[in-house]
Amino acid sequence: MVTATLRPSRVEINETAIAHNVQHAIAGLPDQTALFAVVKADAYGHGLLRVARIAQAAGASGFCVAVLDEALALRRAGFTLPILVLGIIEPEYAPIAAANHIAVPVGDADWLRRAEKGLTEESLPPLTIHLALDTGMGRIGFRTLPALQEALSVIAGQPAFHIEGLFTHFATADEPDPTYFKMQVERFKTFLAALPERPKYVHVANSATSLWHAACDCNLVRFGVAMYGLNPSGRSIEATPYPLEPALTLKSSLSFVKQIEAGEAVSYGATYHAAKDEWIGTVPLGYADGWQRRLQGFHVLVDGQACEIVGRVCMDQFMIRLPHEVPAGTPVVLIGQSGDASISLQDVADYAHTIHYEIACGLSERLPRVSV
Ligand code: PLP
Repeated sequence: MVTATLRPSRVEINETAIAHNVQHAIAGLPDQTALFAVVKADAYGHGLLRVARIAQAAGASGFCVAVLDEALALRRAGFTLPILVLGIIEPEYAPIAAANHIAVPVGDADWLRRAEKGLTEESLPPLTIHLALDTGMGRIGFRTLPALQEALSVIAGQPAFHIEGLFTHFATADEPDPTYFKMQVERFKTFLAALPERPKYVHVANSATSLWHAACDCNLVRFGVAMYGLNPSGRSIEATPYPLEPALTLKSSLSFVKQIEAGEAVSYGATYHAAKDEWIGTVPLGYADGWQRRLQGFHVLVDGQACEIVGRVCMDQFMIRLPHEVPAGTPVVLIGQSGDASISLQDVADYAHTIHYEIACGLSERLPRVSV
């Protein structure tokens, strides 16, 4: 996708906010506990390489990504810190991971048998693996002790693999009720106790776990959404041990302003009719930029005032009702602060019936990311 640098719509990333969030998180960790910055999905829409650089400078000891290509993008950009891919990669790509010193998760013995075939090349370093345990997330990982033990027996005496980590992922760490979380912790402890040797990294914590739960004898945190200043629980748990500073703002400016008469319609489907003579502004960004069509009826900020989104959001533009005439070129804030008013990613997510994660990583590549 082409990034539209010659259009006023842009995502601004506050680098200091990300650095502060990482530094606060690290300051609160127990001794000898590392923080890996989760930079998957273009760093939750904030820009992979930018965030990786800031996180590294702020003290992150490594990175987590979702897919092998993201890990390779970091390596190509010169990052040498450890990288862990969080999703299962195709076994035939194991040699690429090994050659680039990229760690991958393993959740079944069969994967090891298939990957092993490609790892026989003498010049290849061993493939670094993290054993994934499915303690209740139901996504990837060993579900039983015998399944884990079968994998350990495949690995035993096999120089192609190096076990660096053991981990699980919680399904409800961001919810106030700890019952399911505790059940997962107990299952994890059972697995850990059965392991003949403790690997270098034992890890369970995402942002929510690091904020609200005492970790269970672990030494690595996979720090994602809170690094971007977003509360992992949305609004369920308001209190955080340190202030989270949101890093992302979304801005544009009016490309067109006109007055329409009472009864005239706006946008596809003519779903909006002016109640009286109204000033309408056009904002040059739409659902192809990740500003979802369902945001019709939501608002943006012009000079600190909320202006309703009227008519359907189009692919590249949408219209707002202005309180009075303003010139084309007037700034519009879609996410962020304008005067005394503000709109958060959470506000947008609430209106769109989703979570802020989805809004942030849905902001498309067409929007330039600019550091501030
Ligand atoms: N660990 C794993 C396995 C994940 O899948 C994710 C994100 O989805 C994270 C850590 C980071 O989670 P969060 O962004 O909530 O901190």
